[in-house]
Amino acid sequence: MPNMSPDKVKMPEQEPDVRNKNFLEVALGYTPEMAQEEAKRCLQCKNKPCVAGCPVNVKIPEFIQHVANGEFEKAYEKITETNSLPAICGRVCPQESQCEKLCVRGIKGEPVAIGRLERFVADWFMQNSKPQAKSIQKNGTKVAVIGSGPAGLTCAGDLVNLGYDVTIFEAFHTPGGVLMYGIPEFRLPKALVQKEIDSLKQLGVEIKTNMVIGKVLSLDELKDEGYKAMFIGTGAGLPNFMGIPGENLNGVYSSNEFLTRINLMKAYLFPQYGTPVKVGKNVAVVGGGNVAMDAARSAKRLGAENVYIVYRRSEKELPARLEEIHHAKEEGIIFKLLTNPTKIIGTDEGWVKGIECVEMELGEPDSSGRRRPVVKKNSEHIIDVDTVIIAIGQSPNPLIKSTTKGLDTHDWGGIIVEEATGATSKEGVYAGGDAVTGAATVILAMGAGKTAAKAIDEYLRND
Ligand code: FAD
Ligand code: SF4
Ligand code: SF4
Repeated sequence: MPNMSPDKVKMPEQEPDVRNKNFLEVALGYTPEMAQEEAKRCLQCKNKPCVAGCPVNVKIPEFIQHVANGEFEKAYEKITETNSLPAICGRVCPQESQCEKLCVRGIKGEPVAIGRLERFVADWFMQNSKPQAKSIQKNGTKVAVIGSGPAGLTCAGDLVNLGYDVTIFEAFHTPGGVLMYGIPEFRLPKALVQKEIDSLKQLGVEIKTNMVIGKVLSLDELKDEGYKAMFIGTGAGLPNFMGIPGENLNGVYSSNEFLTRINLMKAYLFPQYGTPVKVGKNVAVVGGGNVAMDAARSAKRLGAENVYIVYRRSEKELPARLEEIHHAKEEGIIFKLLTNPTKIIGTDEGWVKGIECVEMELGEPDSSGRRRPVVKKNSEHIIDVDTVIIAIGQSPNPLIKSTTKGLDTHDWGGIIVEEATGATSKEGVYAGGDAVTGAATVILAMGAGKTAAKAIDEYLRND
């Protein structure tokens, strides 16, 4: 009998007033009983609308049926037919605009909790499976993967399984891309990402860190070293700024710097460990996406009393995942919506002391279909803050483009590729993820890594 409850089975969470003072994971995951109860909400629709909403077409009803039957290992095998990082996707995919958006149970209630079930299955498997040595027939062909975010890791994983000698070149001292340096521990535990990286290493993927390609070695030099094909998955790590006065003041951070100091340099463990990050009493985070929510919630956890999200459109347009907005509100983040900064004000010593803003109204829709914010007359006001974090988006870093002849890019920096294969304008060089699309999502980056791995295999077979 299906479970006809209109609501998802609730997932246990840390209490808001407790969790906003620590960096431990907020959501605690389903027990096997909760997962089975939720799985029974799935109607096993013949036409599987949910699958079309998943960028890598996870076999959703099939894996959920296995969960309902208590066959968790089979459920894991079903998911990993198309998704190699389920523990990560189950936690960070924007399910409400992907798989769950098309779930029929969402018409008269909440959709099936596909993401939570995926997370449960992946966590169960990690805790209960025994590592099995896998023997792969090597073909002796070297492939270079540049960047170790979800795009690079997925591409490397698929290629090593096909027998290639894969080396990942990563600019940072730690692999994992945004999964390690961007998304905070309280949303995505780093031990879990490390496990995925370790299993790639066990399969034979070599990871060379502190290797900034375009500086230490160029793509042409990699070719001279015998790499027959390359995948560029360098992400979009170049922070955008607003171009308003005061952005150079002390106490202004890009969200990249702020979150990297916290996640990669472990600022939240300082002084026992890590490097410090200075957070004032009153913090303004400019922007309304996942990055802004992560920065605001991190600032709160580091002791800020008042943390404001300053966003120029209304709540409806906030681009962050609903769950992140909900969690941020519960944790005491204050939303200053329809508010746009015009200037950051400093003390005589050059430190931030406030942010001058105007109120906005929504006008006619712009080219993105969203109503354009327009300035409300005589609405200038100042919010007293001592720290400002700018989280208004990132662009692809121009380094590889500027050091590689024959690699075509858009004016805004994204690498131009053939959609079906990820092939760039340079022979044997493929690209995918945020480096191609601009800032997007983990699952889209993974999908691009998969597409390119398949195309690289075809290219090298026909070489
Ligand atoms: P990245 O993850 O950016 O990895 C690129 C890697 O390449 C990095 O490790 C970088 O150091 C390395 N690199 C760059 N240049 C070079 C070079 N020249 N040589 C060698 N290595 C290089 N998406 C979601 O789906 N859900 C979320 O909840 C979510 N939250 C987010 C929160 C934050 C704070 C941020 C920043 C992003 C978030 N995203 C989220 C977006 C998502 O993380 C990205 O879309 C995804 O990580 C892109 O993957 P990628 O592999 O293309 O690039
Ligand atoms: Fe949904 Fe993401 Fe899983 Fe696809 S990978 S089913 S979009 S949670
Ligand atoms: Fe199950 Fe919803 Fe998919 Fe139907 S649409 S198969 S109910 S998850």
